[in-house]
Order: sequence, then C-alpha cells, then structure tokens
Amino acid sequence: MKQSVSALHGAGPRAVEQLQQMGIVTVEDLIEHFPFRYEDHAIRPLNEVQHDERVTVQGKVYSEPELRFFGKKKSRLTVRVFVDGLLVQAVFFNQPYLKKQIQLGDHLVFSGKLDRNRMVMTGGTVKPQSPNSDRLEPVYSVKGDMKVRQLRKLIDQAFSSFGSSIEEILPAQLLDTYKLAGRKQALYHLHFPTDLNSFRQAKRRMIYEELLLFQLKMQLFRKQQREGDKGNGKSFNQSVVNEFVQELPFPLTAAQDKVLKEVFQDLQSPYRMNRLLQGDVGSGKTVVAAIALYANVLAGYQGALMVPTEILAEQHTESLKKLFEHTGLKIAHISGSSRAREKRETLESLQKGDVDIIIGTHALIQEGVEFSNLGLVITDEQHRFGVQQRRVLREKGIQPDVLFMTATPIPRTLAISAFGDMDVSTIDEMPAGRKAIKTHWAKHDKLPRVIDFMKKEIQKGHQVYVICPLIEESEQLDVQNAIDVHFQLDQALPGVSVGLMHGRLPHDEKEQVMLSFAENESQVLVSTTVVEVGVNVPNATLMVIYDADRFGLSQLHQLRGRVGRGDAQAFCVLLADPKTDVGKERMSIMTETNDGFELSQRDLELRGPGDFFGVKQSGLPEFKVADLIEDYRVLEVARQDAAKLVQSSAFWTSEDYRNLRETLQKQGAFRESKFD
Ligand code: ADP
Ligand code: MG
Repeated sequence: MKQSVSALHGAGPRAVEQLQQMGIVTVEDLIEHFPFRYEDHAIRPLNEVQHDERVTVQGKVYSEPELRFFGKKKSRLTVRVFVDGLLVQAVFFNQPYLKKQIQLGDHLVFSGKLDRNRMVMTGGTVKPQSPNSDRLEPVYSVKGDMKVRQLRKLIDQAFSSFGSSIEEILPAQLLDTYKLAGRKQALYHLHFPTDLNSFRQAKRRMIYEELLLFQLKMQLFRKQQREGDKGNGKSFNQSVVNEFVQELPFPLTAAQDKVLKEVFQDLQSPYRMNRLLQGDVGSGKTVVAAIALYANVLAGYQGALMVPTEILAEQHTESLKKLFEHTGLKIAHISGSSRAREKRETLESLQKGDVDIIIGTHALIQEGVEFSNLGLVITDEQHRFGVQQRRVLREKGIQPDVLFMTATPIPRTLAISAFGDMDVSTIDEMPAGRKAIKTHWAKHDKLPRVIDFMKKEIQKGHQVYVICPLIEESEQLDVQNAIDVHFQLDQALPGVSVGLMHGRLPHDEKEQVMLSFAENESQVLVSTTVVEVGVNVPNATLMVIYDADRFGLSQLHQLRGRVGRGDAQAFCVLLADPKTDVGKERMSIMTETNDGFELSQRDLELRGPGDFFGVKQSGLPEFKVADLIEDYRVLEVARQDAAKLVQSSAFWTSEDYRNLRETLQKQGAFRESKFD
C-alpha cells in the first residue's frame, strides 16, 4: 500500500504527475481518495421533485431531438420527453453526439436539474432504461487533465493488485459490537457501491473508523497531558454530602445521581476537572451544582457559581441560600449594581475566606475579586461566557475544578467532542411526574382566544409568562413590544396584576418585579427575553411568545422551559405569522417535540453548520467520510469508546490492537507535540 501509484498498470508518468498534484502519491492515498459525493439515480416520480433539485426520471421521447450549434464547439440539444403525464424539456449543452442515442418513442432515463416552473431539465445525462442501471454514481474531485473515468480505472486496479494487503485495523471486538463491515470491503464499496445497502454499510464502517481514530488521538493527547499535571485531589466526607441530599425536598433522579458520581470522582482525583454538564431545561442542573459546591466546601475550598444575567444570579442566590440554610455555609452574591460598601465588604470576606460560595455574573471575574482558596468554578448556561473570561477566572485560583452547565447540548457538545478536551456528563432524564409541555402555534389574529386561555389558567391559580422580542416601538421591525403588550394585557385582564420586565428597568425595580411574580403577587409577567435562562417559578403554567418566529429554536425551547416546572400541565403558545419557510418549519418543529436534544439538532440542520460555528474560524477538523453534523451520535460513541480503550490494558498490550496502535503511531498520536 505504500507503493507508488506508478506501480499500477496504466499509470504512466503523466498520470503519476497528475495524481501527485491531487495529493495522491501512494496506492494507499489513491484508495483513500474517496468520492466527495454520490449521485443518486433512483428513479423518482416527478411530483415529488423540488424546484432546482437534481433528479433522475424515466420518460418517453415525445419529439425529435433538435440540435443547434453556436460557433464551432458550442451546441444545444433539446428534446421533449413525456414523464409521469407531464411534458419535460431536456436540454444538453455541448454533447451533440447524444442526438444519435435519442429516438422518437424511446423509453429513456434522464437525469439533471429540474426547473419546476419551466419544466426544463439541464446539466444531466441520458441513458437507456435498464433494470440494473447503477443507482449510486460516485463523484470524484479531479484536477488538471485527469479524467474521472481514468481515476476510477486506476482505483479499480489498485484494488485488484494491492487489495489483499489492506489490513483490518479495528479490533474484532469493536467490529463485532457494532456489526461493522471489514476494512477492505468497506473501502471497496465506497468506490464501487454495488447496491444501496453495501454502500451504507461501507460508509458506516469508515465513519466510525475515522471518528474513533480522531477521538483516540485526542484522548491519548489528554492522557499524556494529564500525566504531567499535578492538580489537587479534594477529600470530603461523603456521608455528610449524602445527608444533605437526603434532606432535599425531592429524591434525585437516577441521571442526577450518575452525573454527581462523575463530578465527585473528578473532585477527588488529582486531575483538574474540566467537565461539561448538559441537561435539557428543567432537568435539574442547579441542584447538582449545589451538591457539587457543597462537597467542595466540605473539602475546605471556596466555590464560585457564574451565571449570564443578574436576575439569574439573584435567583440562584435565593435558592442556594434556602438549600444551605441549615448547613451554616456562607453564600454571597456580587453584582455589578451592588452598592460600593456592600461590595467592598463582600470582596473582603471573600479574600479572607469567610465566604464559602460566591454567585455572580461577569462581575465575578473583574479585577479586584480575589479568592482565598478557590476550588471549584461552575458556570451555568456557559455559552454566554467567552473562553477568555473563563480563563481569567480559572487563573484566580489554584487549579480550580471547572464545571460548565448548559441546556443547549448539540452545537457546543459537538464542538467540545470535536476538540475533545472536555468530559461530558448528561442528565438525560426529567424529574418524575413532569408532564410534556403542550405547544400550540397561533396566528396573531387569534390573540383574543389566547387571552381567554390566559384567564382560564389564572383562574386555576396559575401564572403566565408573556415574552416579547423588543422593548420599544420600532418601525423597521414590525414587532410587538413589551410596553405595549403590557398595556394591552393590563386592560384585557381586569383584576389581574400584570408585571413588566425588561432590561432597561433600574436594577431594584427588576428585582421587585421578579420577586412579586415569584411570590404570585402578579399573575402575568410581560417580559423581554431577560427571563430566558434559568429563571424558576414552578407555579407558572403558560408561556405565550409574541413574534415567535423571530427566535431560533434553541431560544424558543429555553423560553418554553420556564414553564412545566411544577406538577400541573403546562402550555406554550407561539404567536407567529412567519413569512419564510424556515420560520414556518420552526413553528411546527416546536409543536412536535419537547426534546431539546432533537430540537437543537434540527436547528442545526435548518441553519446549517456555517451559521453555527463559522466553520472556517472554528478550527474544527475536516474529515474524509464523516460529517460532524450528521454523524454527531457516532462521534459521541467514538468518544466514549476511545476513552475506554486508552484506559484498558488490552489497548496497550494485546495483539488484537496492534494494527490500531500502529496506525495511531503513524499518525503521530504518541507524540504530544502534534496536538499542541
Ligand atoms: P435546569 O436544569 O433547567 O437548570 P433546574 O435546576 O432549575 O433546571 O430545576 C428545575 C426544577 O426541577 C426546579 O424547581 C428544581 O427544584 C426541580 N428539581 C430538580 N431536581 C429534581 C428532582 N430530582 N425531583 C423533582 N424536582 C426536581
Ligand atoms: Mg438552570
């Protein structure tokens, strides 16, 4: 396989040079030069075909083909074809020879891009009908004078001359577990798919292999790094922690338990924790954070909880104070708007070590905030914090453990799995008795009915959130604004107290508004998206979102997650008259699923990866067969498998793993410098 491509028959000096320009030097390179896409020649009924889609259809030639030349080389061949009861015009440019292959009355297979408005198909091919016509046609990238046909011939030869030396690199145990095709067969079928199934199996195998190798490199790198990193193991009395857990008003879910075990292990280990905790909205991340902070304090360290908004900081402070009431722990809150003296005092006690747990926003990492002994930093909804900010905070303590909590799993996790420098814990279970939130989509003209529904919920003693995208009238953006909506609802709901919350209210007033909603002094809270993350009022059962199509799916899901936190059935009403297809799609997706994992995946698909990562800047690795977006589940499986492998002695010593080790060795996985 390491032979030069010149060893192949038919690869003369010219071809060898051309291949070299494509980065192909050895036979192995050639075999791993995969098609970059496949044309699907499955014949499809015309009415299923979208505008501008590439398709293959079957039809009867309805008119004599007409050939016209423009100058010497340019030509256009036009023929009308009867397809599924419709007349389609097939147009071929600069392929005059096709005329001979098309006869009036013939039944032929046409492929190309269909303009649905004009019913014209262009840029395609025509073939006779045959029952076993290849359905999948690999499409290769070629450079210079190299022709795809020649390339395919060379690849075919590479297999017949050298195929026998293609070795399996995955251990039998993994092949067996996932029922993966052998390496040689998979490689062959990627180039020469005999049928759809063999192709799928080939692809599945190569995707797994590619992602596993990638993850193994990451994990090996991390292992090598860790082994040079001292850190500090924390010891705390587990039974005191257990007692604390016993006294919580609810039993932990199995998922919370599992995640806590992982966190405790990190705390106790001499390595620095760098863990991502993902869990859908309402899955109960806060209490996990609180327990972790408690263990950390018992071990003799201070803890910090960073959150993206002041409101959330206040709420977390309140709930932690309540949770820790009987423990004697000192909880402090620092905010940008704290009074100067109060702030100075808090900072002083923090520095002296009198404060056990500090909660705050970005203010926490400002200059002048010094800790006595910072052991654990937890960030809630970490996507709101930049890498830079996290680093600054981390550097304030002596190697503090870091836990990032997030309710928006996919994009981040994807990036994180892809960079591989974090452990991931997942809370994949909702607390018992949680009912799925019922989501409805209504046009704005249905507002009176929505208001009736609000009244009903309020009569039951429940509360209502109303979210508006903007706080001020704007002519450019035809959206409702919170102040207006507040006024309208206040009129429409006599006897009901309607609160108003937006980012421009003075701090004290915000706090007041939030407090009175939390205490059910106001039954309706009209707000901008400042309530988006984390806020917890279990008695609220209805979420109404104006101009819902202006929000992304993840944000809508976050907002919806503000309700359904108590025992009663919760509802979400999306008021929207979306004008675009994507907008409509978003609204229906929201009504279809409550699963945040699925939602963010579909958001990803709707928006495309470019939007999510700015792929170019992200430094995400590029893969030959795998696609980080489509194959993220495999990526996660590969990540877990890789982690297990590097821990196992078999991986390091067993003969079954020799080829895998050698492959990794060749790729430089056992040298740290490659990954810096
Ligand atoms: P999130 O993961 O979105 O941050 P929270 O931590 O705010 O969710 O929890 C949502 C609600 O669920 C809170 O009212 C919390 O007290 C409650 N909760 C958390 N864990 C459990 C549990 N194991 N059983 C019942 N309720 C729980
Ligand atoms: Mg939360």
